[in-house]
Amino acid sequence: MRPVMRACLASFSFLAAATPLAAVDAQAPASPAAPPTRVAIRAGRLIDGLGGAPITDAVILVEGDRITAVGKGLAIPSGARVIDLSRSTVLPGFIDAHTHVTSQPENYLEDLFRKSPIDVAVTAHVYARRTLEAGFTTIRDVGAGEFIDVALRNAINNGTVAGPRMQVATLTVGSTGGHGDITGFSPYLKFGQFSGIADGIAEIRKLVRFEVKNGADVIKMLASAGVLSEEESVGAPQFTQEEMNAVVDEAAMWGRKVAAHAHGAEAIKRALRAGVASIEHASLIDDEGIRLAKEKGAYLVMDIYNDDYIMSEYKRLGYPQKILDKEALVGRLQRENFQRAVQAGVKLAFGTDAGVYPHGWNGKQFAKMVQYGMTPMQAIQSATVNGADLLGWSDRVGSVRVGRFADLVAVDGDPLTDITQLERVQFVMKGGVVYRTGGQPVTTAAR
Ligand SMILES: [Zn+2]
Repeated sequence: MRPVMRACLASFSFLAAATPLAAVDAQAPASPAAPPTRVAIRAGRLIDGLGGAPITDAVILVEGDRITAVGKGLAIPSGARVIDLSRSTVLPGFIDAHTHVTSQPENYLEDLFRKSPIDVAVTAHVYARRTLEAGFTTIRDVGAGEFIDVALRNAINNGTVAGPRMQVATLTVGSTGGHGDITGFSPYLKFGQFSGIADGIAEIRKLVRFEVKNGADVIKMLASAGVLSEEESVGAPQFTQEEMNAVVDEAAMWGRKVAAHAHGAEAIKRALRAGVASIEHASLIDDEGIRLAKEKGAYLVMDIYNDDYIMSEYKRLGYPQKILDKEALVGRLQRENFQRAVQAGVKLAFGTDAGVYPHGWNGKQFAKMVQYGMTPMQAIQSATVNGADLLGWSDRVGSVRVGRFADLVAVDGDPLTDITQLERVQFVMKGGVVYRTGGQPVTTAAR
């Protein structure tokens, strides 16, 4: 989506800023000397993310924020608090590798002209909490204005705000007139914002350095034109090969991976040749692009749910006809190409472009992925182990294994026979703290 989009939900005031304090062990006095909380989770069925058959009657032991033991029928240590999910399926907390959690669109022109970055900053925590309560305990947020994503990530990390673990991209790196620019308006309009626009190698290197300096965990490059912006073509490249190489080279120097927004076949191939970690959208990928992605070990992150939402809500969202025409072209082809990518065995990570549709609906994409060729287990792995691998966080999230964060979700029934169960997460734990139980969010007071 357009990374500078300024959206705001009108009715946010009923949701107070929340902390993760009141949960599993909320009544215990906080003391630095206290031993970590011990929790034993009984799981009727455990899908650990690693792809093997589900483990029935599993027990997961948690101390503090980490998993310390996992297995079938483990003894429960004395003194441990027991969470009984013996009639549920437990899975690793999900990872959405393509979100814009700081905002969501209400109306194309009003969002642009009537909202300021402060509106976005004030409401961003609401969307973070909804995402977490939907079972997405980790997100890679790939584009936000004004470093609001950095502030949100930091507030979550220090416990002031409830939300998923976040990797953030800050401003996107795009060209003049490209997807990250504000195009289609009077040339006399000026927006007083940080610019994610860079043309030529020197400007690109400087922008990447500026983003890293101000908190970027990952760099988001806009390799091609976009859908929800008014430049003419949807797939045309917006950087030269040399410019894309410079983005990846500069990011690597600072230890950062690059995620490339690319719809068109040529832009996808340039980005892959440059060495990006992932292609976002990948809507019009061709056979050579699929071959290159496999050869380079790059992930495709294909947001194949949100077309349904955009096409059904376009009147309320106020998109110009030009944008609708682009969405209509890309939506169907992207799903067909997703199916080809699955068949070809390309690495795929779950990413939805949440923020284009309402936050918290992330799980709706699972059913689309199964409809277009994945097995339910493949779809689950795209949002667990694969997402963790793409983020470089396999040592901490994405699987139910000893040493990983106790990030767990539970659903009724068996998602391997009814994938839509993942849209109705009943239980959410992040870092040993419960944020949803019995299907209901755990409400907590502000700190
Ligand atoms: Zn996006």
